[in-house]
Amino acid sequence: MRRTGGDGKIMIGTRTRIFVLYTGGTIGMAPLEAGKPGSPLVPQPLDKLLEYVPGIGDSGIELGFGSFAEPLDSSNVGPQHWKAMARAIEEVYADYDGFVILHGTDTMAFTASALAFMCENLAKPVVLTGSQLPIFRPRTDARQNFVNAVYIAGWKAMDLPCIPEVVVVFADKVIRGCRARKVSSVAWAAFDSPNYPLLGNIGERIRIHTALLQPPPPVDQPFRVNFELCEEVMEIGLFPGLKGSQLAGVLGLENVRGVVLRTFGAGNAPDEPEFLRAIAEALNGPEPKTMVNVTQCQEGMVEMGLYAASSALLERGVISGLDMTPEAALTKLMWTLGNQQGARIADQIQVSQRGEQSENLFDVRFGPGGSGETARESIEVRQSPDPRFELTKLTRAVIRVTELGIAGADPGEAMVVRVFLNCPPTEGATVEDDAYCVAEFPMVWEGQPVQEACAIDLTKARNLMGPGLLALTVTAPAGRRVWFGGLYLALFAQAS
Ligand code: ASP
Repeated sequence: MRRTGGDGKIMIGTRTRIFVLYTGGTIGMAPLEAGKPGSPLVPQPLDKLLEYVPGIGDSGIELGFGSFAEPLDSSNVGPQHWKAMARAIEEVYADYDGFVILHGTDTMAFTASALAFMCENLAKPVVLTGSQLPIFRPRTDARQNFVNAVYIAGWKAMDLPCIPEVVVVFADKVIRGCRARKVSSVAWAAFDSPNYPLLGNIGERIRIHTALLQPPPPVDQPFRVNFELCEEVMEIGLFPGLKGSQLAGVLGLENVRGVVLRTFGAGNAPDEPEFLRAIAEALNGPEPKTMVNVTQCQEGMVEMGLYAASSALLERGVISGLDMTPEAALTKLMWTLGNQQGARIADQIQVSQRGEQSENLFDVRFGPGGSGETARESIEVRQSPDPRFELTKLTRAVIRVTELGIAGADPGEAMVVRVFLNCPPTEGATVEDDAYCVAEFPMVWEGQPVQEACAIDLTKARNLMGPGLLALTVTAPAGRRVWFGGLYLALFAQAS
């Protein structure tokens, strides 16, 4: 890493300082052999690049520069380079008001997401930009993108709001870094934010939508970089015809601890037994792996349990990536596996950390309720939701039970198991006529325990739930006894 603190700096009036880090990418590339048609583009040194933006410092902004010793095509950028970028920012964080990272477009969304998770208590803008055409060309988007990035990072001198986030500034858009995706290899507007509004629009004037920004960290929480990333991760895209044996082969690899599974539509996957067995073995084996479900669709959200084709994933322990981009999901998985263990992995992934998803999913795990031998007329279990859960933000609540068994029932007997929330059960009460009866599982007993799920009426959930312990009581049909392997309450809440 090369750094120059003062070169090229121009300071007028307000003392706004930004640090520009050049990592490579088309923005700073020129043909390997000048003048030779078809010569491949290769990254140029920082000094050459800066010659093409005369006046970049004429705006009341003092610039400091750093550069990768060898600027890279971003196809070669990986976790060690994310760490180098984060370290460069950490080293000069106190001295600057904002940061610009010049970066290739191909993997910029991954870098932006990774930096968003690695940077804790970020109170200043970190702006990534690049370009579709090199800065050395007369017709290029590079100068405009570079200058716009400098303006956003130099918010103080520009009389703009501070964005205390990692963002991508490209063409006319300001995009939250962990929401950005490269959507075009040819258009000026190479990036988009499919599942979240733009943080700002760039035109004749720059408009920042302050209501959409992440809040700045409390003043007593200092900026720090979390360098712990687990690189033993993979992304697997489903396709029609993918065989369970192929999936098992990949999941069986020793150096794979986590997988982002890119599924169909709202999080769906085949329910073919060999395929599901591969997933179950990987997730519930002696060294359980973590699997996060994101959609292959450009836009939208995973809703596991909506279709039977995704319930099977949920039952086997696949975690919901909600509406995260694949880039955000992969880097969040790396960061989470680098920092958390056990059930805390799911808790961290399913809750928004940097505004990378629109909803939080809090899984309240109540555990098992007896067994075939200890089945009872009703079983009460208690558990507290995660303290981050806010009832006012609740958007959906779903009760799920696994290995639900009935003792004393005849094969083929139709029955209904009911669940009561924060109240002892009333005999004969139903969801229709009882304020405390929140779920019904109609079933035909075939002699084998079953999995069931039921959404709770939102008004009921809001009325019955308080800040503390939640008590669920599962009741058997009259004259029968019930048990279950696991009881879960999935609480979906708007992410702030
Ligand atoms: N291959 C280049 C890179 O990502 C493309 C670009 O910058 O637009 O480094």
